[in-house]
Amino acid sequence: MEIKTLEDIKLNLTERSKIHDIDFENLSFGNVFTDHMLVCDFVDGRWNQPEIMPYKPFSIEPSARVFHYGQAIFEGMKAYKDEAGDVWLFRPEQNFARFNKSAVRLAMPEVPEEVFLGGLKKLLQIEKDWVQRGTGKSLYIRPFMIATSTGVIASPSNNYRFCIILSPAKSYYSGEVKVIIADHFSRAANGGIGAAKAAGNYSAQFYPTKLANEKGYQQVIWTDDATHTKLEEAGTMNVFFRINDTLYTAPTSERILDGVTRKSLIELAKRENMNVEVKSVLVDELIAAAKDGSLKEIFGAGTAAVVNPIAGFAYKDDYFELPKVENSFALHLKEKLTNIQTKVDEDTFGWTVKI
Ligand SMILES: *Cc1c(COP(=O)(O)O)cnc(C)c1O
Repeated sequence: MEIKTLEDIKLNLTERSKIHDIDFENLSFGNVFTDHMLVCDFVDGRWNQPEIMPYKPFSIEPSARVFHYGQAIFEGMKAYKDEAGDVWLFRPEQNFARFNKSAVRLAMPEVPEEVFLGGLKKLLQIEKDWVQRGTGKSLYIRPFMIATSTGVIASPSNNYRFCIILSPAKSYYSGEVKVIIADHFSRAANGGIGAAKAAGNYSAQFYPTKLANEKGYQQVIWTDDATHTKLEEAGTMNVFFRINDTLYTAPTSERILDGVTRKSLIELAKRENMNVEVKSVLVDELIAAAKDGSLKEIFGAGTAAVVNPIAGFAYKDDYFELPKVENSFALHLKEKLTNIQTKVDEDTFGWTVKI
């Protein structure tokens, strides 16, 4: 695909870049932001002219709807730099489409392609020096939209702000991740907003995750809200299970986010001649597989960490440690996908888009 740049965009650029103050070798995820951001307001039923301006606080009235009713959505994507110094996005049209699906579910206006993708392209052209080259390095992209109309009236806002901010990232290793399988709490329910990338899905997870942390587990594996028998997501990532030499991941649903990493790993695994089945794994099946030794790997999949191997899981009073495997599917797939994203390997899928 080709992204059209946006001609109709207001540029208000900073005179002094802060890039030389940044220690790119020691970045914690999501704390440092680039010089500029893109802002576009929706007022009186239409989108205004987008503006690229210095990254800085903006002021919003305390009664703005976002603060009271959580009308807020976001996306997460990454830009990579190749050997020649060109900047690439990975399947950006997927994030754009998903953003607007989230917008519809939260009764927010859809963002035009010229603003989301065209605006992002222009912003990345300005910030290209912030996309660093090298293993695991990327520029994390956070588009988001909030409800800005004033008044504590429980109805959708008339006005919205769409914004894109950028944060340089290096590959992160989250350490050993142990998870607890949810037998009471849920992150999503049928008919709810689990399939949208809504801010509220994250705040709903914080408390059960905090309880898990207190017990020594880093994340929660979410199960279906009705029966708590189907394994659905790991923290804020999609989840894969390897039983013998078959990979399983649940089908997307109203409760499961349609992750770009998940769907890319499924296609990649098929190309690598791995057995992949899109099928829910049940808690009982997982425990049986852990007991008879056929459970080899569990890993989360998402843009930020790409693949996050899980070391063991708890269910009620039992803890199951996973074996150390020699030929890890998780690490193999992570390397293959990262090599496509960073243009080290040829992209035969046509997933990468040049800026
Ligand atoms: C963002 C997200 C994912 C991962 O999606 P990617 O497109 O792969 O980054 C998975 N689950 C949830 C709940 C998410 O919010």
